[in-house]
Amino acid sequence: MAVADRWHDRFMSIADEWNDAYAGAPGWDIGRPQPALVELAERGLIRGRVLDSGCGTGSNSLLAARYAAHVTGIDIAQRAIEAARKRAVGDGVTNVEFRVGDALRLGELDEQFDTVLDSGVFHVFDDDPRAAYVASLASVLRPGGRLLLLCFSEATPGEWGPRRVTADELRAAFADGWTVESLDRTSFAVTPGQPVPAADAWRAVIRRVPAPVNRQ
Ligand code: SAH
Repeated sequence: MAVADRWHDRFMSIADEWNDAYAGAPGWDIGRPQPALVELAERGLIRGRVLDSGCGTGSNSLLAARYAAHVTGIDIAQRAIEAARKRAVGDGVTNVEFRVGDALRLGELDEQFDTVLDSGVFHVFDDDPRAAYVASLASVLRPGGRLLLLCFSEATPGEWGPRRVTADELRAAFADGWTVESLDRTSFAVTPGQPVPAADAWRAVIRRVPAPVNRQ
């Protein structure tokens, strides 16, 4: 089977799993933006053309739409995208669009963004796709633009839910071509009934380093 076909098959099975999650009430789908991102929005960090990578049902995209010129939300789960579109129409928000897409292949959007949001997506990837994901993010964030990332930290106890991430892992993942501007301990809000009322999390503001000026 050709590489592209294998990739397609894998993509479809991952998409099915995430889509199935949205048939229920996933623990991350809190129906409102993550408070840690609201704070960054209020500080003026969500600006310009925004990509919400792995947007789910669009809570953070709709937050971003209040501050930014235009927001694109992409997610692998068709069901989540349909819910997000309905919410945007219901709320009368017109500067947002939602599409089914692969966060590991963001370059296919063929657009550069000023701000990229990642709420709970980096922490779903294993090591290999993690590196591919960071490269994918780099391909769509303009030099000088910012990635605002929220993920579970190693301080969240238990085996449930997504992968736990340490500060060192975050710094290592964004070592080349990025500057970690801030890395704060915060919390990741979850739905009632999860093993913790809110997960311990990292909030990272990571700037894409402008390309060096070629002086030759
Ligand atoms: N950002 C949302 C959803 C977080 S859960 C929120 O804060 O509510 C992780 C999301 O990543 C899910 O919606 C899942 O469907 C999506 N996802 C997982 N793998 C993906 C991939 N390869 N491409 C795009 N989205 C993906």
